[in-house]
Amino acid sequence: MVQASESESRKLLVALRDAMAEDSAGQARLDKIVQLTAHSMGSEVCSIYLFRDSETLELCATQGLNAVAVHQTKLRIGEGLVGRVAKFNQTINTADAPSSKGFRFMPETGEEIYSSFLGVPIQRLGESLGVLVVQSKATREFSADEIYALEVVAMVLAEMTELGAFVDDGAALSALHQRPITFQGLSAQEGVAEGAVYLHEPRVVVTNPIADDPKIEHQRLNEALDRLRVSVDQMLSDVRSGDSEQLEVLEAYRMFANSKGWRRRMEEDIQRGLSAESAVEKEQSTARSRISQSNDAYLRERLHDIDDLSNRLLRLLTGQGSDTGVEISQNPILVAQNIGPAELLDYGRNLKGIVLEEGSVGSHAAIVARALAIPLVIHTKGISTEALNGDIIMVDGDQGTVHLRPDEGVLKAVKDKIAMQRQAADRYVKLRDKPAKAKCGSVIKLLMNAGLMADLPSLKGSGAEGVGLFRTELQFLTQSQMPRRAELVAQYTRVMDAASGLKVTFRTLDIGSDKVLPYMAPQDEPNPAMGWRAIRVGLDKPGILRMQLQALLRATSGRELSVMFPFVAQFDEFCAAKTELDRAIIRETRLGHKLPSDIQVGAMLETPSLAFAPDQFFKAVDFLSIGGNDLKQFFFAADRENERVRKRYDTLNSSFLNFLEQIVQRARSSNTALSFCGEDAGRPIEAICFAALGIETLSMRPASIAPVKHLIRRVDLKVLKSVIDKSRDDGHESVRNSVTGWLKTNS
Ligand code: PEP
Ligand code: MG
Repeated sequence: MVQASESESRKLLVALRDAMAEDSAGQARLDKIVQLTAHSMGSEVCSIYLFRDSETLELCATQGLNAVAVHQTKLRIGEGLVGRVAKFNQTINTADAPSSKGFRFMPETGEEIYSSFLGVPIQRLGESLGVLVVQSKATREFSADEIYALEVVAMVLAEMTELGAFVDDGAALSALHQRPITFQGLSAQEGVAEGAVYLHEPRVVVTNPIADDPKIEHQRLNEALDRLRVSVDQMLSDVRSGDSEQLEVLEAYRMFANSKGWRRRMEEDIQRGLSAESAVEKEQSTARSRISQSNDAYLRERLHDIDDLSNRLLRLLTGQGSDTGVEISQNPILVAQNIGPAELLDYGRNLKGIVLEEGSVGSHAAIVARALAIPLVIHTKGISTEALNGDIIMVDGDQGTVHLRPDEGVLKAVKDKIAMQRQAADRYVKLRDKPAKAKCGSVIKLLMNAGLMADLPSLKGSGAEGVGLFRTELQFLTQSQMPRRAELVAQYTRVMDAASGLKVTFRTLDIGSDKVLPYMAPQDEPNPAMGWRAIRVGLDKPGILRMQLQALLRATSGRELSVMFPFVAQFDEFCAAKTELDRAIIRETRLGHKLPSDIQVGAMLETPSLAFAPDQFFKAVDFLSIGGNDLKQFFFAADRENERVRKRYDTLNSSFLNFLEQIVQRARSSNTALSFCGEDAGRPIEAICFAALGIETLSMRPASIAPVKHLIRRVDLKVLKSVIDKSRDDGHESVRNSVTGWLKTNS
């Protein structure tokens, strides 16, 4: 066997690159690669197997095996030695292939005469693309150097596969990033949209896997590493010493960025002929396959660090980054691993749809998507590696389905659905000016939730009677620095002007939890949802609360002001917040500003404790608004952002409804106005159940008003209450089945 020396390796890569540069078809390129590799490695056989679909590997080219087997021999992932290399993303090196675990004899290939087998995965960042194999008659194991040389070739193959170098009709290869794929995720916001992929963080594309001059590549790598180290040091010095978790992660980054082993391995890769970018990716892929097999949770977490750091290095090398200069297309559909509410707000209403690999229905990013009425599908594993900027994509937020590069049939079906939804929306328009009057005569007040100036135009069109919840923090989240009081006055004035006399209930700042202001130091809290957030921040550091209250008073000037405090957990917090308001009123009077004509002060009921507050609390507030998103998470002790636990507990769970009913009774007996403004108020079945329990005001996203009104007008809430009561009496965990069963025959 030919020595797999560095220079041999480099010669092979240069020959491969020349072959790639020729204007030949995909199959011809593959044939050339196996021929060159077999020759360079001095082995009788070299074969390339590529994934035909996610389960099947196909022999796509061979030097040495029977040519008739090409495109005929297929293996399932995990089947035979080749299938095992792909399944575990790990190299198999054996002197005696037929006696090795998992060996499967494929007679059509004529491989039985070859004893030694070396198979390496063709993978890119953990994504398995195929397997590269060399075989020879001699009974011997391949040396570490030979394995390494073949891995380098596999790396180049992976990059070229990614670039579509092997696609051609005759070769019948399934092209990467070209096939139609459907992802089944979870719906976080209904609605259907068609558009073009816009990647939140585009992946780096390496277009030069093979380099001419190792010296230049060494220099490029070293320069990029130096810049990487400087940027990590900079990040470290930016982090306040209090944030120990972030410090820990960055210390790990620094250690890794300075790692001699990492640098040495990349330098060896370059010496073998890879470009600096390919060397980074090769080491990233190797680390990924090694660590992802590990049972050590700490190590698996470090995988994220390695990925992040490698991506930073790649961006430095390629000049590609988050800001790749890709224009936002006409109908952009955002595809991302995950996204925070502030980042989402930056995109604003330009987006037609959002698709996340992670995410959660209860997150504030989902709430923002809902507020913006943008269809959102979450938990679509793998989409951010599969999708490319500009790909056609259809998001079905009703079904939680995403069609990437859909074929004609799907395209037509989704377009039909969009047209049908438009017709339904037209039907709803007719309901706009009609009251939400149930068959029993009860009238339910429907309000809308808002948070941005851009929401206000929906007020008229939606048929809402006012804004029941204006989340003021969304305006803070969209700014890069703390707004000044004058800006707030201007914003709130515009909101009230746009509401043209309809009531707007402003909620003071609810920051903390997942709503982190870019210009405030993040808190190092083990459990931020139960941490220092909302009114707790407002009372401990009253500067912002005071500024907000002054701005609200000034903006209202002569009109009616309705304001509520978020996340109040006990009576004295409400009293302290109200005292701040009273002080602000005194100050405004002293300064000669006109006061509101009327001021109503309420609290959000988001913690179970408040439902058990003394009667004095219920009497002290002008109104209460149930923040069901938080109330439910604390009632069931189920994180609203954790899909796994969130889904376990139905909002129509009998215990939760019993609890809501107690709140209704307490509010009634103290004559306190009560509303519900969590996301569930916008779900028609939940909404009619709340109304049946006696919650007469519901606040929801604008797009839900018509569907909720439509259902309320079709039911008798008194009869529905008896259905709910019977279901609870019968001991059902949730009343949902009883209610939907009843609706089938009674609406
Ligand atoms: C709620 O908790 O139900 C609520 C309306 O507040 P947010 O979703 O903003 O926490
Ligand atoms: Mg809340």
